[in-house]
Amino acid sequence: MTSPVYQTVIVGGGFTGLFTALHLAHEHYPRSVILIDKNERFCFKPLLYEYFDGEMNAFQVVPRFSELLKGSGVIFIQDAVQSIDLHQKEVKLASGNSYNYSNLVLALGSVTGYHHVEGAKEHAFPFWTQADAIALDRHLRDCLQQAIQTKDPEQRRKLLTVVVVGGGASGVEMAATLADFLPRWYGSLGGKIWEIRVVIIHHGQVILEGDINDSLRPIAEKELQKRTVPIEIFTEAETTSVHPHEIEYKINNQVKKLPTSTTIWTAGTSIHPLIKDLPISQENRDEHDRPLVTRALQLLEFPEVFAGGDCAGVQDKSLPPTAQVAYQQGSDIARNLKALALEEKLKPSKVNIRGTLLKLGINDAAANLFNTLEVVGEPAHLIRQGTYLTLLPTPIHDFKATTEWLDENIFHHHLPFKMFFKKMCKYWHRLKLQF
Ligand SMILES: Cc1cc2nc3c(=O)[nH]c(=O)nc-3n(C[C@H](O)[C@H](O)[C@H](O)COP(=O)(O)OP(=O)(O)OC[C@H]3O[C@@H](n4cnc5c(N)ncnc54)[C@H](O)[C@@H]3O)c2cc1C
Repeated sequence: MTSPVYQTVIVGGGFTGLFTALHLAHEHYPRSVILIDKNERFCFKPLLYEYFDGEMNAFQVVPRFSELLKGSGVIFIQDAVQSIDLHQKEVKLASGNSYNYSNLVLALGSVTGYHHVEGAKEHAFPFWTQADAIALDRHLRDCLQQAIQTKDPEQRRKLLTVVVVGGGASGVEMAATLADFLPRWYGSLGGKIWEIRVVIIHHGQVILEGDINDSLRPIAEKELQKRTVPIEIFTEAETTSVHPHEIEYKINNQVKKLPTSTTIWTAGTSIHPLIKDLPISQENRDEHDRPLVTRALQLLEFPEVFAGGDCAGVQDKSLPPTAQVAYQQGSDIARNLKALALEEKLKPSKVNIRGTLLKLGINDAAANLFNTLEVVGEPAHLIRQGTYLTLLPTPIHDFKATTEWLDENIFHHHLPFKMFFKKMCKYWHRLKLQF
């Protein structure tokens, strides 16, 4: 396939890649832009729990790239990247097509890290994509259907026990969602909701340790016990193997087994294999093996290549692997690509982390705003959803989703919160810029 000389290729359409593309379109970037993603839809991962439990729909959480990029001039290609040749400036795709670039944006994110735990990859459910959410939903509903029909109490207990491996933000949000939703689903089938068990197995001493949500731990610990079924948390417990109907873990030097039909894996991430394979020397990679980029987000050895989000580390700066970082870096990459095309000076990327938001069950969350204000319960839940909804890409999408949600959730059911939201508006504007 022949390509124009001045062509910018973005690999990966997550927070970094999609927002780079949208900002380039918005800024009338003078070169052609190709965005490549293996999926047909963008995934707004922080809202994947809401999609999974039915609080929000596909239009809001997993919109199609074709819709998001309509009229933008960005060419979207749905295909899997198979190899990246930084020397030849060429990207090869699974279809056999290949694209040359004058500038490249690496935005492939990371992949689930199983840390060589036996059976984890084969038998645990990941929770990363729309497909993962659909598969988990089907499996859990199937378990509940089987449980309602079985007379054997041991078999029923296994079907009704869900284990979440990992006590970081993803594990906490997942466990809290399940501890409210599984009883609701099981209750509607006529089951005894107190038979449901949700367990977190966490290797650290406390949950959320070293996480950006660290300061919200006391609130999270309290709220996890307030769910429809209280969540059991096993700390300093190391998962050693995962089987279809059992998980094995080590605690106080003793190996224990917990019968379960559902293990969900949220215990970490690994470098994307394509990023690992790049010809970048070890001294130009961070402790997670990710390539280091300059403050202007260029690879040290290949300045025509930009990288951001989960797949890159910034030189002399530690940033958490979060959507709010990826999103802001996407906009900074776009600004610098345009500067490069216009032969202007590149500017360092400035990422501001002004708050964190943690989902803690139905209509419950915790928010740390600007490191000064902590909000908990339903107000935090409303701030969290509102903040993310204002971020949904493209103004049309943003407007539709926000009005739909505000109308349904606030103005119809929560009129007293109207006043609260008026007060929050000035904060909201700042949050919108950060997350
Ligand atoms: C369930 C969940 C909840 C989260 N909640 C929060 C939260 O509340 N707040 C927060 O700040 N962060 C949250 N995060 C983290 C946040 O989503 C990530 O940090 C962010 O998505 C990173 O953006 P990115 O652009 O680097 O990568 P991603 O958003 O992961 O995008 C990578 C893209 O690359 C594509 N891709 C990968 N391989 C290929 C290939 N070979 N060929 C073509 N395309 C490919 C993928 O399809 C994907 O679209 C959450 C993550 C998860 C999984």
